[in-house]
Amino acid sequence: MSEPTPHSGEPHHDPDLSSRLNGLRAAVLGANDGIVSVAGLVVGVAGAGVARGPIITAGIAGLLAGAISMAVGEYVSVSTQRDTEKALLAKERRELAEEPAAELTELAGIYEQKGLKPATAWQVAVELTEHDAFTAHAEAELRINPDDLTNPWQAAIASFFSFTLGALLPIIAILAPPVSLRVPVTFASVVIALAITGAISARLGGANARRAVTRVVFGGAIAMVVTFVAGQLVGGFAGA
Ligand SMILES: [Zn+2]
Repeated sequence: MSEPTPHSGEPHHDPDLSSRLNGLRAAVLGANDGIVSVAGLVVGVAGAGVARGPIITAGIAGLLAGAISMAVGEYVSVSTQRDTEKALLAKERRELAEEPAAELTELAGIYEQKGLKPATAWQVAVELTEHDAFTAHAEAELRINPDDLTNPWQAAIASFFSFTLGALLPIIAILAPPVSLRVPVTFASVVIALAITGAISARLGGANARRAVTRVVFGGAIAMVVTFVAGQLVGGFAGA
């Protein structure tokens, strides 16, 4: 989309790459959510000792509820962020039209703060302003790439599908094996899947993989144990 500009102030900042990475990270987190919440749900229902029908119903209902809730939440949060960014950009555009001299001084000040000598900073600001003042201000001052605002629909659809993909795993794992094995098989598949998503998200975020995997696997295991025990208790009380 944007060509690399030789006079760019941020050599390590690639907006296209970082937005792709953010999307990927959101997808992994969505899948993670789908795995854990629907695993807890189906294991809980299985803990009550009921037949396949209610397990399938609970799994599908949990999948849809979770995927829609994730999509709506993502839509709202990205829309809000986008509204904020658009308002900031509009304000910047107004300021550039009304007081271009003050804006030029401001831009030079930003490059001076980044370590350029006053004369160099001034030169950079003048050249950037001649080239594309609005983009220069958006990037240096607001750290927004005006050509690359996040699309709320795209974010909503991505989280819907990543949650769904994650949720399908425990549903399949609990329905495929014979009854006596369904909880252990689900437990094992979920732990393995969470170890993989944990490792991927740690790698994407540049974090320690072992710690991330331990956290996510532990969290998922707790969810399944709690719901299984709760399902057994409730199922026992209800006389199922
Ligand atoms: Zn400005």
